[in-house]
Amino acid sequence: MLDAPFFRRWLTATAAAVDREAERLTELDSPIGDADHGSNLRRGFRSVAAVLEKEVPDTPGAVLTLAGRQLISTVGGASGPLYGTLLRRTGKELGDTPEVDRALFAAALRHGVDAVAALGGAAPGDKTMLDALFPGIDALDGPSGSFGAAREAALQGALATVPLQARKGRASYLGERSIGHQDPGATSSALLFEALAETAEGVGGSREGSRG
Ligand code: ADP
Ligand code: MG
Repeated sequence: MLDAPFFRRWLTATAAAVDREAERLTELDSPIGDADHGSNLRRGFRSVAAVLEKEVPDTPGAVLTLAGRQLISTVGGASGPLYGTLLRRTGKELGDTPEVDRALFAAALRHGVDAVAALGGAAPGDKTMLDALFPGIDALDGPSGSFGAAREAALQGALATVPLQARKGRASYLGERSIGHQDPGATSSALLFEALAETAEGVGGSREGSRG
């Protein structure tokens, strides 16, 4: 079962991954954006890690809701409200349940991903973070889903944004010139799933995380 400490570990692991990959995320945001994605997310997830350590929310829903609020208030770019909505909406779905299993979490996370699509008005194939989030949630969900499969699917989704033409966000201003570059937001979304799989693998005795 996944409890509040699990979700705090996930978001702390995400902050570490974003910190490690910030330069690369900003580099990806240079040719098709304004070269701030890495610094935006680094600032946001550092402050998420800090607030989780200070307030130590004690349910999965409260962890995710607090983290989402923190991202919205600290990240200036488009990605702040979008990732903030992802976590806040997922947290709201979980309510105040003290522990959730993978299936319940996946169902809640799907609501979060749908909320990102609604807020940004983007669809799969528009070369946005959704191109990693949808494959990730599809591979996490269902009886045969797993955290490992979700990590792989999100990564493949991010890589598959290279030949796409951007239809949403700053990159869309470039039209056909956005083709041939990997989307920064899809790349950071893959990091979220990578951190999730790592965290699940770290759960003692859980077959869930090590499968796939
Ligand atoms: P900004 O574009 O404001 O500088 P960031 O650089 O932090 O913000 O984030 C850019 C990323 O946000 C893009 O790579 C893309 O994945 C994502 N994004 C932008 N607009 C949308 C949207 N409407 N829907 C979903 N994702 C979007
Ligand atoms: Mg940017």
